[in-house]
Amino acid sequence: SEVLISIKGLKTNFYTYTGVVKALDGINLDIYKGETLGLVGETGCGKSVTALSLIRLIQNPGKIDEGSILFNGKDLIKLSEKEMRSIRGNKISMIFQEPMTSFNPVFTIGSQIAEVLILHQKLDQKAAWKKAVEMLAFTGIPAPERVANSHPHELSGGMLQRAMISMALACNPALLIADEPTTALDVTIQAQILELMKDLKQRIGTSILLITHDLGVVSDVCDRVGVMYAGTIVELADVNSIFFKPAHPYTTGLIGSIPKINLTSRQKLDTIPGSVPNLIQPPTGCRFHPRCSKCMDICKKEKPLLKNIGENHYVACHLYDSTPELR
Ligand code: SF4
Ligand code: MG
Repeated sequence: SEVLISIKGLKTNFYTYTGVVKALDGINLDIYKGETLGLVGETGCGKSVTALSLIRLIQNPGKIDEGSILFNGKDLIKLSEKEMRSIRGNKISMIFQEPMTSFNPVFTIGSQIAEVLILHQKLDQKAAWKKAVEMLAFTGIPAPERVANSHPHELSGGMLQRAMISMALACNPALLIADEPTTALDVTIQAQILELMKDLKQRIGTSILLITHDLGVVSDVCDRVGVMYAGTIVELADVNSIFFKPAHPYTTGLIGSIPKINLTSRQKLDTIPGSVPNLIQPPTGCRFHPRCSKCMDICKKEKPLLKNIGENHYVACHLYDSTPELR
């Protein structure tokens, strides 16, 4: 598959009063063209920080300290804020758990989508409005004209989610980042939004980075999955390998705790014994070692690197040290 975005050695830190929170500890991740890549892991493992770093929306006191993010031959980390603004919402867009984050309560839905099109696609007012209504229809919104003329608070949660997806897709982005897009919705609406995302993938071929802690969602919509633990990617593989041949002890714990028959049910990931480590003083070596039943001496000393252990299957764990190095 063709690589769309290549993240290498990404380190993002937060400089808080109590110390430096080492939120991302050298993330390596390629996103392929047209794939839906899931990022899973417990709350605070760095899923959202990875996404926000990717579009350079890390706020103070956070800072990207190392690494590169190659996209269209450019390193996004080196771009100016002005150059980044021409990419954000245009070539790479993001949708959030809470759609109100994307909309200004003061303006109509249609005018806000039109504004994105005027800015990035240089459409005039009239053409932008027309395209905005088309985009609302495209995501399955009935009566798109009326919704375009509505203010955000006039719409239900599910409709607002669709409107946000319409806005995110307005400029036909190469990558759509979706951070827990269905978590705030009730189960029926969740299912509809997931169906919509699967359908969009087929219709427009946009790559999707889907952040979730819901393994049912992952098995339902993702092609590949990256499992994150304490600011690192511990395993990366196609969705079947993750569910049926998990290699990392953390992944094994996650998957092992779910009866296979229940894969489509809404399973949460917070089932591994022990607590999430403090990232101001993270565990040495493998950050999972205090919770790992297979921990060896080397695990406390050396950080395991991602290694290729099979077709499209990567794992960061010293149990696989005898396997040839990745790259
Ligand atoms: Fe467990 Fe060691 Fe593998 Fe970490 S590197 S997951 S501690 S066996
Ligand atoms: Mg999050």
